[in-house]
Amino acid sequence: MLKIDNIKTFYGNIQALKGVTIEVSEGEVITLIGANGAGKTTTLMSISGVVPPRSGEITFQGEKIHKKSPDEIVKLGISQVPEGRRIFPGLSVMENLEMGAFLRTDKAGIKEDLDYVLDLFPILAERKSQAGGTLSGGEQQMLAISRALMAKPKLLLLDEPSLGLAPLIVKRIFDIITKINQEHNTTIFLVEQNANMALQVAHRGYVMENGMITLVDDAKKLAANEEVKKAYLGI
Ligand code: ATP
Repeated sequence: MLKIDNIKTFYGNIQALKGVTIEVSEGEVITLIGANGAGKTTTLMSISGVVPPRSGEITFQGEKIHKKSPDEIVKLGISQVPEGRRIFPGLSVMENLEMGAFLRTDKAGIKEDLDYVLDLFPILAERKSQAGGTLSGGEQQMLAISRALMAKPKLLLLDEPSLGLAPLIVKRIFDIITKINQEHNTTIFLVEQNANMALQVAHRGYVMENGMITLVDDAKKLAANEEVKKAYLGI
């Protein structure tokens, strides 16, 4: 479904990605784990067109996307949930969700997806008139995921959904991620520092260090890998 082929991405003179190759098949949950500053967020930004790669190629469902604009990429079926949620704090929950469907015109489909996300996260239905900024961290994460789903993505990019949340909430969010993958037929690309949780929900995992992929394997095998255990699982 997605093929990232040897991409090199820069911020000015700083090279954040030094030739990254990743493949994601339809229906998979893949996770990209690594330390702070390894280049995980930059990988997502390269896919979504926010920070396009300087060289290399990204192909989504057979179409080259590495030179396309972020809105063209959303229209093709890739939505990103950014790190730190970035919901619109002054807009209501419902308005935030409507923003997610901004590029769509299929009214019936929008209504169907709205019902789906409110069913997935009933708390958002209860709080639909409330300003997004007044929600708890966990609720804001639910809203950010829901807003991304309102674009009807085939591929959902999640950047550190567990960041700053209590363990119980993290567990709920990860259960929902599995549900979205299994019941809503959405392929998931999950960036996480919480490698332990990420490797439990993912089918395959990639380990990134200093802008390069250093390991790739089935998630279960990575979780049992001695180096991964020591460096990322605190075991
Ligand atoms: P984190 O978990 O902290 O978000 P990460 O693995 O997602 O880390 P990136 O945010 O992709 O890492 O950063 C990769 C490298 O690019 C780091 O060296 C970082 O300092 C640098 N970098 C990231 N954003 C910018 C920017 N806007 N301007 C300059 N350098 C940046």
